[in-house]
Amino acid sequence: MAAKTMEELVSLCKRRGFLFQSNDIYGGIKGLYDYGPMGVELKNNLKQAWWKSMVYERDDTEGLDASILSAPVVLKHSGHEDTFSDPLVDCKICKSRFRADQLENSDCPRGGLLSDCKVKDLTEPRPFNLMFKTAIGPVDDGSSFAYLRPETCQQIFTNFKNILDSTSRTVPFGIAQMGKAFRNEITPRNFIFRVREFEQMELEFFVVPGTDDKWHEYWIDKRINWWVDQGIKKENLKTIEVEKSELAHYSKRTVDINYLFPHGEEELEGIANRTDFDLGSHTKNQNEFKIESKVMKNSSSTTKLAVQNLEEKKWYIPYVIEPSAGVDRGVLALLNEAYKEENTDKDNKRILLSLKPHLSPIKAAVIPLKKNNDELVNLSKEIKSNLQKLGLGRVVLENSGNIGKNYRRHDEIGTPICITVDFETLEDKSVTVRDRDTMEQKRINLDGLENYYRDYFN
Ligand code: ATP
Repeated sequence: MAAKTMEELVSLCKRRGFLFQSNDIYGGIKGLYDYGPMGVELKNNLKQAWWKSMVYERDDTEGLDASILSAPVVLKHSGHEDTFSDPLVDCKICKSRFRADQLENSDCPRGGLLSDCKVKDLTEPRPFNLMFKTAIGPVDDGSSFAYLRPETCQQIFTNFKNILDSTSRTVPFGIAQMGKAFRNEITPRNFIFRVREFEQMELEFFVVPGTDDKWHEYWIDKRINWWVDQGIKKENLKTIEVEKSELAHYSKRTVDINYLFPHGEEELEGIANRTDFDLGSHTKNQNEFKIESKVMKNSSSTTKLAVQNLEEKKWYIPYVIEPSAGVDRGVLALLNEAYKEENTDKDNKRILLSLKPHLSPIKAAVIPLKKNNDELVNLSKEIKSNLQKLGLGRVVLENSGNIGKNYRRHDEIGTPICITVDFETLEDKSVTVRDRDTMEQKRINLDGLENYYRDYFN
């Protein structure tokens, strides 16, 4: 069973250190969240799983970590300066701003839904550009500024030639990047679903024109299966064909992978066929190429973003298939999927996060049965340190002495195994290993503990 409400997740996240409202002690800023001790581990584990699947396990991709500050000319030729906007309406009465295409679900600051407000007086919609700007250099007179990137992929396109030249890749191949993106959303909402600062995991996969439809299908399949491997039930994922009239300016076809979030079904990842728009748009000497999409004339670029067809010796601009996933929406989906409430006996219930072990923030907790007992604590520290050295993720020592509370806490943060060191351990050199999901406990000999642990996570 997933969480029943967003409130349950928000409460667990704050209580157990997954997520906090950013700038909390000063009242917070809307649309910004900070990942706490558990959140940062979960998020890093999700990103690591993506990187493993997109870079390490493939023979046709490379990685990149490009700058966040982006030259305006890049976002001019990407089309963002002209088109990256949402329709904005103002209420003349309460001076609040809303997204014109989401009025039905918007809350009225006076209380209740906006659609029920009797006194509202809304303006006509007008485009509102979502990009954040910041000054570059010591003089802030508007003459030199950069954008905080609104998506990670543009610097993949601008680095296309650098990567080709430094790796001698041939098409088809992909460039993967994960990192921050910024959008000045008019109405950030639904916890970390729609925020103003978030992370994306994007692959730009370059293909020969004409093979793009086939590769698009391949990536849709691949990405759904990957989310299922992360623990999301297939029945909670849905592929949605984006209507022609809703397609972004660069897209020939986009399929969204939607997830059933606690607030409703919405986009988790988009997989777009971006055609030759991006490389075509950022290339110099555009006239030399047969660019299918409609691009703006480019007299600023210094490089041709093209490859040579080795048989015909002709230069062409590859097409791009882009699976683009949101890390924060991924974290929210995983938390929701993993959240469970169980009755342990007549009067007691437990909350647990049944996360896949590779995603769990803490891989194992080592618990000395008695707090501050030197023998038990020293042995626990040694066990913890040996498991930590195996490099499978964070292992913690819990020296609070309350075994029941420790189990409850580790259930709630999704720790797959708890290892208890008790007085018998000193005699028989074995520990109690408790499984999060079944609550089964078994004795494991210390000699075999590292192998047991390694096997559990591999
Ligand atoms: P939406 O329609 O929900 O605004 P989008 O279609 O604009 O999303 P894309 O531009 O396709 O989103 O971005 C790729 C991914 O980045 C999305 O699938 C989503 O997971 C994530 N993402 C986009 N905007 C946000 C945001 N404001 N907060 C959190 N994640 C986001």
